[in-house]
Amino acid sequence: MSKLENLKKQWEAIMSCMGCGDCGYAIRPAVGRFLTCPVKEAKGDEAFEIWFSRGRMNVLKSILEGKIPLSKDLAEFVYQCSECGNCTEVCHQTQNEHIVLNTSKWIDHVEVWNALREDLVEAGFAPLERHQVLIEYMNNPEMRNPYGEVKIDKTKWASEFSNIKENADLVFFTGCTMPLRQVNTLRSLMKILEAAKTDITLLDEEWCCGSIALRIGDKKAVMDSIYHNIDQIKNIGGKEIFTACAGCYRTLNKDYPELLGEELPFRVKHITEILIDLINKDQIPFNQGSNPQKITYHDPCHLGRHMDLYEIPREVIAKLPGVELVEMKRNRKNAWCCGAGGGVKSQFADLAMEISWERIKEAIESGADILTTSCPFCIGNFKDAYEQMDPKEQEKIVVIDVIDLIASKI
Ligand code: SF4
Ligand code: SF4
Repeated sequence: MSKLENLKKQWEAIMSCMGCGDCGYAIRPAVGRFLTCPVKEAKGDEAFEIWFSRGRMNVLKSILEGKIPLSKDLAEFVYQCSECGNCTEVCHQTQNEHIVLNTSKWIDHVEVWNALREDLVEAGFAPLERHQVLIEYMNNPEMRNPYGEVKIDKTKWASEFSNIKENADLVFFTGCTMPLRQVNTLRSLMKILEAAKTDITLLDEEWCCGSIALRIGDKKAVMDSIYHNIDQIKNIGGKEIFTACAGCYRTLNKDYPELLGEELPFRVKHITEILIDLINKDQIPFNQGSNPQKITYHDPCHLGRHMDLYEIPREVIAKLPGVELVEMKRNRKNAWCCGAGGGVKSQFADLAMEISWERIKEAIESGADILTTSCPFCIGNFKDAYEQMDPKEQEKIVVIDVIDLIASKI
């Protein structure tokens, strides 16, 4: 029986929701805001209160008042939220300094949703079935990744590249998705680094960063991985590590220090921060004869709203030869989620797909030929959705990781 210990810590936040409904209905073209909750919109005609923040807050109030017990049914609804954080950006009661109507600064919605997830895990109503499998894979000593692949498969690609050294100033935290599901993008990354005459080093044994378990609310499942990965980074003498995954970036940068209660003895950068340095120093030999392309950039939630990294990926794209960067209607703080995050993709694949279609449609409306982003998880979800689109719609746009885009221009 859960004592609701995590949710009770969010009492002020939950009670400060004033029920305005902007988290479900806000459209303010003057400030570039067009709706808020991807789950509410994807639910279409079934999009009752329960599917966006206001209704969720009301449910949470009732839980705290003892009127609704934790249950498996409740968990099924709770995990149908991608934790995109778009509700925090619009809420008048949020911690967002840019909202001028603040009467209080109490609500960090993703923190609130996660508190309930943690209580559901403690009460035994979560993780849900698919999430449980991922966590078991992640903690299996033969795997250490949520894809259920054997450990060795995560590092096979590395033997192809001579610029991976035992020691280098740059330490690459590969994450699990790219080496196990998008290894050609990893090869593109190595092609760029080779062309830029840049050496990197890898950890002796990198385990999953633990993002999936943290988003599900199972902190206990992730602590061994955190200690292991930090020891590995210390052992290799890494002062600066980088990752090409938005989930790893948030987890290493934000969750690790918060969970450990201390600053980490190394800096964590995103791949776009490494790439902009190389571009600014003219280290990447671009083919200047590239055909003109219109490109639009999707902000991954874990890079944008969660970590405030909006402009550097755009700077990288804008500096590529032959490229015109165009924006989707919803961008930066109001960017529409790809639909994969918060455990939605693994447990509620149809919902993730529905949200993804909406985003690809928006990319087509921007007039772009190419939809790019800088997160393998977003790319995976977009590509799954793209494959099921009408071929006539597919002809209008291509989905590509920003790393592959850059490699195509060398
Ligand atoms: S926008 Fe904020 S205050 Fe308004 S209903 Fe949503 S959570 Fe509550
Ligand atoms: S975090 Fe995103 S998906 Fe979840 S309630 Fe808020 S806007 Fe909706």
